[in-house]
Amino acid sequence: MRTYEVRTYGCQMNVHDSERLSGLLEDAGYARAAEGEQADVVVFNTCAVRENADNRLYGNLGHLKPVKDAHPGMQIAVGGCMAQKDRGEVVRRAPWVDVVFGTHNIGSLPVLLERARVQQEAQVEILESLEVFPSTLPTRRESAYAAWVSISVGCNNTCTFCIVPSLRGKEKDRRPGDILAEIEALVAEGVSEVTLLGQNVNAYGVEFGDRAAFAKLLRACGGIEGLERVRFTSPHPADFTDDVIAAMAETPNVMPQLHMPLQSGSDRLLRAMRRSYRSERYLGIIERVRAAMPDAAITTDIIVGFPGETDDDHRATLDVVRQARFASAFTFQYSPRPGTPAATMSDQVAPEVVKERYAELAALVDEIAWDENKKLVGRSVELMVAEGEGRKDGATARLSGRAPDNRLVHFAPGDEVPRPGDLVTAEITYAAPHHLVSDIPAADLRRTRSGDAWEQRQSDESCGTGPSSSGAGPVLLGLPTLPA
Ligand code: SF4
Repeated sequence: MRTYEVRTYGCQMNVHDSERLSGLLEDAGYARAAEGEQADVVVFNTCAVRENADNRLYGNLGHLKPVKDAHPGMQIAVGGCMAQKDRGEVVRRAPWVDVVFGTHNIGSLPVLLERARVQQEAQVEILESLEVFPSTLPTRRESAYAAWVSISVGCNNTCTFCIVPSLRGKEKDRRPGDILAEIEALVAEGVSEVTLLGQNVNAYGVEFGDRAAFAKLLRACGGIEGLERVRFTSPHPADFTDDVIAAMAETPNVMPQLHMPLQSGSDRLLRAMRRSYRSERYLGIIERVRAAMPDAAITTDIIVGFPGETDDDHRATLDVVRQARFASAFTFQYSPRPGTPAATMSDQVAPEVVKERYAELAALVDEIAWDENKKLVGRSVELMVAEGEGRKDGATARLSGRAPDNRLVHFAPGDEVPRPGDLVTAEITYAAPHHLVSDIPAADLRRTRSGDAWEQRQSDESCGTGPSSSGAGPVLLGLPTLPA
């Protein structure tokens, strides 16, 4: 049996696409390569958003050339946003690559691999746009208890720093019935947390003419029995409407958590970024979210050093951060992305200035996050136990879990050790800037069907009848986010 490995770069959309690539390959008869073993097929699912993405891709492909030379029959495939962007350039710069496929045709991978093998010739297949929403592709999910569910792909906005619209195309919305059917099937398999994925979830429904579709979708998720937690990413402040806040607040399994990209606190820069909201609107949404859900944790993305950013612009961002009191923030130092309008703007900010502003912003974000975390000391929270080994501090063995607001909590288990996907209640005893600790043994263990599913997976793996080791599942605070 030929083995495969998928290497993923970038945001949650790519993480989920990689689950689909794995599912497709397993359906076509491939098996996941064991840890440390050289796979017969290596698939790169690439990202064009992160800095130096092309250097990294071509560097990695260069490292694989001697490996491929030493393994007759090995194949290399490159997909994702870099493939969509570079197309034939990939096989020109790395002629030992066998397959290049784009963001709109991930379903073609097994056929292209086979064709490349039979014809002994590189196959490059890039589609310009998505024809049908890829609802029916098989998926090899990384987590037994949490799952990504795509609700839309592509984006109709034109933010000047972002390459997504040209690589993922115009927004395509998936029909609500397909989404809900997928979630119901996941719950039947033991999943109890889903994260709805889209480049701009607040625009969901625009394609089929229903601006209230996202709020309706959240409420419909509330009616799915056995679905404990619903999250979503990423919302866009320009399209955020109050019906979504009401749906969040009134649907018990929609978690009190909002990751909403700010990008800049300066209205002048938001205009230059072609972001159509202003800081006042952004802060207004936060105020209304907190009025409806006082315990909501709000997180964000911020770009530092966008072309033309002045000290005043930077101060405006710091000011919004102080008012918004984020539970955490992904802060990025701006660097030009070829193919975006911002890359050719003449007033790029000097790297040393960007570094200085970035350090100042990161320190402020950490200070506020720590203050916000300290407010939780003494409170009890329900945790969904996460996969992985947990954390060992000195003599205390701790497990990890996520609170409803998605905060990471390292906790001491009670007498009975919970399984990933189970629920426990823990009292917070200590706060750090990026996590919380509970050293009082957790109580109220609720053994869930997700925990059963995780146990079943473990036993299937140990007798070789199931997929190999499971990953960490959706962990929003630990992953780069979608660039909405
Ligand atoms: S940053 Fe987000 S909203 Fe803007 S173009 Fe990119 S994906 Fe769309």
